Amino acid sequence: MIQSLSGQIVLPDRILPGTLHFDRHIQSIEPGTACDQTYILPGFIDGHVHGGDGADTMDGVDAIRHLARFHMRHGTTTLLPTTITRPWSDVIFALHAVAEAMRHPDPDGPHIHGAHLEGPFVSPHKLGAQPPFTIAPSPDKLAEMMAIGCVRVVTLAPEIEHAESAITSFAKAGIRVSLGHTTADYDTALSALDKICACGGVPGGTHLFNAMLPIEGRKPGPVTALMCHEASYAEMIFDTHHVHPASFKLASKLMQNRLLFVTDAMRGAGQADGPSTLGGQDVLIEGGVVRLPNGSLAGSVLTLDQALRNAVTHGKSLIEQAGW
Ligand SMILES: [Zn+2]
Repeated sequence: MIQSLSGQIVLPDRILPGTLHFDRHIQSIEPGTACDQTYILPGFIDGHVHGGDGADTMDGVDAIRHLARFHMRHGTTTLLPTTITRPWSDVIFALHAVAEAMRHPDPDGPHIHGAHLEGPFVSPHKLGAQPPFTIAPSPDKLAEMMAIGCVRVVTLAPEIEHAESAITSFAKAGIRVSLGHTTADYDTALSALDKICACGGVPGGTHLFNAMLPIEGRKPGPVTALMCHEASYAEMIFDTHHVHPASFKLASKLMQNRLLFVTDAMRGAGQADGPSTLGGQDVLIEGGVVRLPNGSLAGSVLTLDQALRNAVTHGKSLIEQAGW
């Protein structure tokens, strides 16, 4: 059945007032004089999202469907439910839940493309808000998680034991390797990015600037490696708390379409300020910022429509940032 929607239609080259006619695909665009200021945009893709509206990926399949529906109300049409560093059996449970959600898609929910495995294959020295259950990506662990068949992105610290062989296995299996929660310096990060490419993979970085060494003149760090490596993508949590607007402008200028917004949202997204939990840890949400008791940022309460608003507020055009 053909449906219609009127408003400001954001096209690759202009914003057109008019009416969009569609079923599963766009059938036609009828220019008009719509004074409705609603913007009609392509659906967002969130490659790193733990939760929302009280639900968390680690809670199981019902929670995954619930958080997915919450983010769809904010314009996300494809997402990767994201695990957190917990005991291995909890991680495997969550991956089975994502696989189940993919096998039985929610007709009223967004497309679940697969899982993002964030931890446990990360550095114990750059946990950020990850609980301290890091382990090495040994061949048996890799075989167990890859057999479930739902992981599309793995956050990996390239300096940990077995990382090199894991990079080869992931890249060959078509799983994106995203450097993150890492103490790697520039050279280590760059050689990992090159290795991912050499194995036929697509390299990337997890929440650029966060949980990795900063840029210094004589120590350019993984941030510079990711920004300058032409084949690499990088995620950014642009809630203006995780990343300063000037750092967003710098990365955006250098990376352009290689910079991808993610939410890294936790279960408190869409809920009132107050206490919540992340990966079994108590956190406090206050004024749009989530922190552990020690003051570390602990995920976000961001949604991708807000990330887009933030980008436009800080100088990007809607067309440029809409994902065309
Ligand atoms: Zn995360």
